[in-house]
Amino acid sequence: MPNPSEQSSCLVLENFIGGKFVPCRTHIDSYDPSVGEVYCRVPDSGAPEVEAAVAAAKEAFPGWSARSPEQRAQVLNKLADLLDANVEEFAQAESRDQGKTVTFARTVDIPRSAYNFRFFASSLLHHTNDCSQTDHMGCLHYTIRCPVGVAGLISPWNLPLYLLTWKIAPAIAAGNTVVAKPSEMTSVTAWMMCKLMQQAGVPPGVVNIVFGTGSKAGDALVGHPDVPLVSFTGSTATAQCITERSAPYCKKLSLELGGKNPAIIFADADLDQCIETTVRSSFSNQGEICLCTSRIYVEGSIYSEFLERFVAAAKKWKTGAPSDPGNDNGALISKEHLEKVRSFVALAKSEGGTVHCGEGVDQLHLPERNAKGYFMPATVISGISDSSSVMQEEIFGPVTCVSPFDSEEEAVSKGNGVRYGLAATVWSQDVGKVHRMARKIQAGLVWTNCWLVRDLNLPFGGMKNSGVGREGGKDSYHFFTEVKTVTVKH
Ligand code: NAD
Repeated sequence: MPNPSEQSSCLVLENFIGGKFVPCRTHIDSYDPSVGEVYCRVPDSGAPEVEAAVAAAKEAFPGWSARSPEQRAQVLNKLADLLDANVEEFAQAESRDQGKTVTFARTVDIPRSAYNFRFFASSLLHHTNDCSQTDHMGCLHYTIRCPVGVAGLISPWNLPLYLLTWKIAPAIAAGNTVVAKPSEMTSVTAWMMCKLMQQAGVPPGVVNIVFGTGSKAGDALVGHPDVPLVSFTGSTATAQCITERSAPYCKKLSLELGGKNPAIIFADADLDQCIETTVRSSFSNQGEICLCTSRIYVEGSIYSEFLERFVAAAKKWKTGAPSDPGNDNGALISKEHLEKVRSFVALAKSEGGTVHCGEGVDQLHLPERNAKGYFMPATVISGISDSSSVMQEEIFGPVTCVSPFDSEEEAVSKGNGVRYGLAATVWSQDVGKVHRMARKIQAGLVWTNCWLVRDLNLPFGGMKNSGVGREGGKDSYHFFTEVKTVTVKH
């Protein structure tokens, strides 16, 4: 397998259609964010490439959906084994393509990608359907579930392979065939995985990957009449386009979108554990995780102590060359994104906020090779009004804002005072309080006294502008199958 991290010449990717690599006539530049240079060229696919991929997926559907769940599970497990066996190459490639640290890719992205296949291979074998009797009518009713057909899968750049496999695995486990479109900014590991698909014995056409932009390749996929369902992870703005584009076809949609996630910290929290975790939840993966904390509300009586200790801990969060194991963060995805994140810090300053550390306060000491990379240190801001865009809009970078509250009611109202509702963390040792908060907070995921601890069996997804639908063991199975009610008169 080629190792993109070691190639000096420009890497040129090809689409994967019908089990074969297919060259594309035109390409888009893809940057190495840690050095700010083009290192890869990604197919600039459009309607013809999507058409070919959908045709291949349609052709493969009858054979793949007719396989037993055990036969499909075998293929998924083989893919998981191959990813596990190639963790290092994939981690290096993900880091170079996305800007994240190699350590993060090696310990989070790639192991979780392998686990996605392993999890859904197993989960698939354990679903049961409903049955009900209406003896007085002489009838028995039961449900059956059938794969839907060709699934369109669209994923973002922040956790490239992790989120792509989170869709491919349940879709094909349930017997669908897929056309996937990764982010044009982070396509390399998806392309590398296509080779593993061949080795794992994924039949041609079961997984097709078309690379390109959202406005061309993504749009053609969402608007294709033979793709009855679309699973999308990305921004709320794109989800609105996808919803409108797919509406004439009444497609089944799963939308996993942005967040503006609060941490609510009560005075009785275990502050040592809370500060360590809240630094991680604010800044991990450069703050480029939809679940990252970006608003920290702290009970008034501990506000000053928290802020002082939190800033001290944030200052220790190291940013620099992604290959250096001593660094916690690497580079942001692009120059444009870095500028956008910086603009929120500038706005906070212009509105009278205090920047305690990070952008404009702390100097980054980068190796010469990374001087043009898109780096930004962990930044903590306070003194911003809840109505400011800084507190309302998703920043998606290493920036978090701290603000005080005085009562449980106020904490709920502040926590819920945005259009998003993806995730929240609540810190308190009072079990009654955390249960009350979990009920009142508008978020699809509420972590109490922890963050990012996941059981893939349980639903994942957001409310309000953070999404529609849920994914996870049973939820993904339900999304990727069509349920039918059958009635038998006896
Ligand atoms: P984005 O919406 O710009 O792009 C996501 C994907 O959609 C990309 O593959 C892109 O090419 C494609 N796309 C763009 N326009 C399209 C169109 N008109 N039709 C079809 N496809 C189109 O998002 P991004 O910047 O890549 O990712 C960051 C966003 O993703 C953040 O808002 C983040 O919160 C969100 N996100 C959400 C979750 C979640 O599970 N809720 C997880 C990760 C990221």
